[in-house]
Amino acid sequence: MEALSPACDTRFIFGLLLRPKPFRVEVKNGKIVSIVKEEERLWSSKLGQVIDYGDAVVMPGLIDVHAHLDDPGRTEWEGFPSGTKAAAAGGITTLVDMPLNSFPSTVSRDTLKLKIKSAENRIHVDVGFWGGLVPENAFNHSALEDLLNAGALGLKSFMCPSGIDDFPMTNISHIKEGLSILAKFRRPLLVHSEIQKDLESPLGLEEDGANDPRSYSTYLKTRPPSMEEAAIRELLTVSKDTRIGGPLVGAHLHIVHLSDSSSSLNLIKEAKRGGDSLTVETCPHYLAFSAEEIKDGDTRFKCAPPIRDAVNREKLWEAVMEGHIDMLSSDHSPTEPKLKLLEEGNFLKAWGGISSLQFVLPVTWSYGRKYGVTLEQLALWWSERPAKLAGQELKGSIAVGNYADIVVWEPEVEFNLNDEYPVYLKHPGISAYMGSKLYGRVSATFVRGNLVYKEKNHATAACGVPILAI
Ligand SMILES: [Zn+2]
Repeated sequence: MEALSPACDTRFIFGLLLRPKPFRVEVKNGKIVSIVKEEERLWSSKLGQVIDYGDAVVMPGLIDVHAHLDDPGRTEWEGFPSGTKAAAAGGITTLVDMPLNSFPSTVSRDTLKLKIKSAENRIHVDVGFWGGLVPENAFNHSALEDLLNAGALGLKSFMCPSGIDDFPMTNISHIKEGLSILAKFRRPLLVHSEIQKDLESPLGLEEDGANDPRSYSTYLKTRPPSMEEAAIRELLTVSKDTRIGGPLVGAHLHIVHLSDSSSSLNLIKEAKRGGDSLTVETCPHYLAFSAEEIKDGDTRFKCAPPIRDAVNREKLWEAVMEGHIDMLSSDHSPTEPKLKLLEEGNFLKAWGGISSLQFVLPVTWSYGRKYGVTLEQLALWWSERPAKLAGQELKGSIAVGNYADIVVWEPEVEFNLNDEYPVYLKHPGISAYMGSKLYGRVSATFVRGNLVYKEKNHATAACGVPILAI
């Protein structure tokens, strides 16, 4: 049987049987060099080893375009080593790290360099970086250009407070300004789309009997769907300029973690029909959970925008299945357990963020089965489209010339996510998924041809590389 890569060396040659389709994939120097039908036997005689995983599915590795690994500066929350080990164990071969929750935030060339330095030789999967669009750099074109020239794959901004002091929110003028620079680089702007317009739903609710902070419904009231709708409505006033012939052609807007499947989604559909360069993601937690099921005080489920009711979840699934939502991402956003206030259970004060990185493949599959999710759809939502958003032309599919970024997994294997299950995240206990029963066990993960994870073991060498836009 094949061994974990002892060192990060891609000069080897091996073959892999592709399932469920009967193809053989030939890997050389970390890339896929041929794909031939099994019966054709047009197989290079130089192949050292042909790996057959039997009935397991061999798919392109997942690309998570939205993860917070909090490194450098808040490694007690996660960090590159534990985060990327969890990613590898979950079949993710590339992730793009968000510019906030680390310290400092990634908002300049120098802070991006700190990130890259911190990632080097400490990452088990490939990691790219979004830069931050904040008021401080939005009107400073040369600062933004420096950040993009230093390799940021695109920018991210918030239309509401981010929860992190050194990552302030942007208004629509900042966003427009950022897009004008991004248009030249043909890289995307990712936007956290919530805005507080409605004063009837103030964020600081009175903690009286009617608004028990331990009750999830209290938190839900503080972030109604109208906050997402208001933000998206405003965003679309500039996204129309990205249409062919428009002043911002070349720029692209990507709405992160959509939760509202009603008015917000309708606005997005309309803008896409009109030709805006616009994509949208949602996350497994909005597809797996519903507000009704969240128990009093269980702050593991707090995130923003919030998990809404079961009717909203059904409509979200419908939108994913029908292709109105382009892709999925984890929005893995951990913290240290004490900030989740698990004992106190105060939804208004606890850190907002769901910890999920290692589980996104089995979660999407387990909850998607009843909707008839196919392996092709999983690959589209988790690999092909995220690769496109992140500008990774040689990733996202098993194709000749692409990097051999591959996940091998067994869709029919059921497992309990309990204390005995090997979880590589820094703080498994804060994850809302602990205690679930899931389908789909990852058995092996290859990054650029290196076998980085196999059956509860990681390669000792950290074979991931920082990915920089060029
Ligand atoms: Zn996030």
